[in-house]
Amino acid sequence: MKTLITDSPLEAAALLIAGKTVAFPTETVYGLGAAIDSPAAIAEVFKAKGRPQDNPLIVHISTPEELPRVASKLSPEAELLVSRFFPGPLTLVLPKSNEVPYAVTAGLDSVGVRCPAHPVAHEFLKCCHTPVAAPSANRSGRPSATSWEAVRNDLDGRIAAILKGSNSRIGLESTIVDCTGPNPVMLRAGAITLEELQEVIPAITPAGKTQKNEPLKSPGLKYPHYAPRATVVTHEQGKSPALTPDSAWIGLGVPPVGITIKKTCISLDEYAQELFSFFRHCDREAVQTIYCELPPEKGLGRAIRDRLNRAAGNH
Ligand code: AMP
Ligand code: MG
Repeated sequence: MKTLITDSPLEAAALLIAGKTVAFPTETVYGLGAAIDSPAAIAEVFKAKGRPQDNPLIVHISTPEELPRVASKLSPEAELLVSRFFPGPLTLVLPKSNEVPYAVTAGLDSVGVRCPAHPVAHEFLKCCHTPVAAPSANRSGRPSATSWEAVRNDLDGRIAAILKGSNSRIGLESTIVDCTGPNPVMLRAGAITLEELQEVIPAITPAGKTQKNEPLKSPGLKYPHYAPRATVVTHEQGKSPALTPDSAWIGLGVPPVGITIKKTCISLDEYAQELFSFFRHCDREAVQTIYCELPPEKGLGRAIRDRLNRAAGNH
């Protein structure tokens, strides 16, 4: 299939309405969208990405007013989170409505819902006139795409279109909060930090390790993720790693001596924004090992640590 590259949200939306797959920019990472009422397009999303069938897709809406179409009920806590953080980089897991097919939720009775705060995403979703199921627009297991060129590298010829936008401002996937239980639980760290969530609902906790025989709260989190072809090795701040040849480094501090491909980030925001594009750059340069400095586990540092640990296969 020929992949059309366009900067027109209207043209991209027309393709989606016609049952095709369309990648689009958001403030977190690029998404690969399909209309929730198009089983063929949803199947194409799984096929194009090579995504395991039991990994549910997040449904995107253009405004919070569309929530009743996709969620059957909002708890008072969910209402609070919506009023504080929608639109924005937060996904809420809610009881699904009848309009959301099980093909989107991988058989679950809940649905992940997000309302992006990105002008092009908003315009595109508005023109679609339907909620849009969209995982990240990368081949499964690879780092998420934070530019339209990265989407093209992974998915050219496998999807109908790419809606061009600027590079993703945040660079890491949304924070996910499960609002289906008695207390909301943070399933995935992201740009909306645990501290910000707790300002609104003090009882929110991060998901603990799943016990043996207990069903997984977020099926997708069991798969390897965010991995470049190079081996990722993490180290704590101030603990310089022993280097191997053909290696690269990214972090906030001073790079180890003797490394040529390196990226010192001046803030956590920059670290998040640059991480996946640095991984992809290292792959193009045939780097063997990428050393990554772990930031402290607070604020946005929690999300960066999570992605680094997963890329390194540390958990
Ligand atoms: P991605 O869109 O590629 O960033 O992945 C979406 C993530 O959201 C995966 O880790 C899914 O497991 C998670 N997710 C989506 N829907 C649900 C749901 N209904 N319940 C729990 N987790 C979900
Ligand atoms: Mg993903």
